[in-house]
Amino acid sequence: MDTKTYDVVVVGGGPAGASAANDLVLKGRSVLLLDRQGRIKPCGGAIPPRLIKDFDIPDHLLVAKARKARMISPKDNRVDIPIEGGFVGMVNRHEFDEWLRQRAQSNGVDRQQGTFDRFTQDADGVRRVHYEAREGKSSVVQKSVRARFVIGADGARSEVARQAVEGAEKTKYVFAYHEIVKAPQPSAAHDPDRCDVYYRGTLSPDFYGWVFPHGDTMSIGTGSADKGYSLRASVGRLREAAGFQNLETLRCEGAPIPLKPLPKWDNGLDVVLAGDAAGVVAPASGEGIYYAMIGGRYAADAVENCIVTGNTKNLKNARKSFMKVHGQVFWVLGMMQYFWYSSDKRRERFVKICEDKDVQRLTFDAYMNKELVRKDPMAHVRIFFKDLAHLFGLIKA
Ligand SMILES: Cc1cc2nc3c(=O)[nH]c(=O)nc-3n(C[C@H](O)[C@H](O)[C@H](O)COP(=O)(O)OP(=O)(O)OC[C@H]3O[C@@H](n4cnc5c(N)ncnc54)[C@H](O)[C@@H]3O)c2cc1C
Repeated sequence: MDTKTYDVVVVGGGPAGASAANDLVLKGRSVLLLDRQGRIKPCGGAIPPRLIKDFDIPDHLLVAKARKARMISPKDNRVDIPIEGGFVGMVNRHEFDEWLRQRAQSNGVDRQQGTFDRFTQDADGVRRVHYEAREGKSSVVQKSVRARFVIGADGARSEVARQAVEGAEKTKYVFAYHEIVKAPQPSAAHDPDRCDVYYRGTLSPDFYGWVFPHGDTMSIGTGSADKGYSLRASVGRLREAAGFQNLETLRCEGAPIPLKPLPKWDNGLDVVLAGDAAGVVAPASGEGIYYAMIGGRYAADAVENCIVTGNTKNLKNARKSFMKVHGQVFWVLGMMQYFWYSSDKRRERFVKICEDKDVQRLTFDAYMNKELVRKDPMAHVRIFFKDLAHLFGLIKA
């Protein structure tokens, strides 16, 4: 049994966990990053410039920079939106995640490959984290380590959350699935600088389908909260609609995406959650990488605060800080998804609204900078009245 006590054991080395571990080691804490590894996280890999800036992501990790987006309606109305003054960055998750883990390690984080199993408590009250680690090719050994604090960043079906945080077992999920295909030569159908987003009931009853460029490859996917809905068949239809049915398929993979932030992210004592484990993926867009990393940062800040003050109730600051900055945006996006993604008639109108230059500018500004745009209040007013006109059918879709 290991007798060393880490200040923090971070379970899960995805964007949330690797970011939290890196922040804490830079604050002078002893940190162990425990990650299962061995599986590429299924993900479209789209990240905003704000993430690149806030987390010092080097340019070489971006396999593509999409400088325009195409919205496609049920009746095939195509609205091309230039992303002015910025881009949507594309990362391949196996390279991106490993780079984040290695950065944390080079700053002093200890890394351990292993699968979290359970918690126990030592006689002195300190939490013990048990995990399974592979040794050699076939043998699995049980190991454990002591932790003053634990950050649970082990993804959508977080075992840490299930075992330590009340109410976590009630999380609801959307399922997302994508196929990684070999990219064709650039053509009218394939622009390596463009993201295509399909709003069609035939591709998802409650979400959207996407084609994201990734340099040599593309991610073609969709999602839905409807468990009976065949995402695989839907991606087949999407590939056909896009003219990509004959491209070589390199990987097929899917994963759950949490539907909304958990009501509690900590146990008030020594465990706090971050990222998908805490349920933070933006409704309507399914964007989770930025929110995982910023959530990891807030979790790290909350733990640091507890270590300094000795007041473990401050763990709740992780959720409080996150919701203060992003809660309103999540609410707006949730309402948007509920309303605009519910029928083809509404999807048609939604894409029509995207023709509006104010909508285009404010939407991408908000996406890229993660702030509601306040500098042009009249644009909001114009959008409000145009929205009303669409809702009441005064503008033809
Ligand atoms: C198909 C699909 C497409 C998506 N596309 C996008 C997109 O384009 N842009 C975007 O921003 N978001 C996207 N998302 C969402 C995004 O992938 C997640 O929100 C994000 O990965 C969350 O990061 P995380 O660190 O919280 O969790 P994860 O990335 O899931 O990382 C969890 C880590 O924990 C480890 N782990 C799990 N269980 C254990 C255990 N028991 N013990 C030890 N380690 C464990 C895993 O190995 C993994 O490294 C997509 C999701 C899906 C499913």
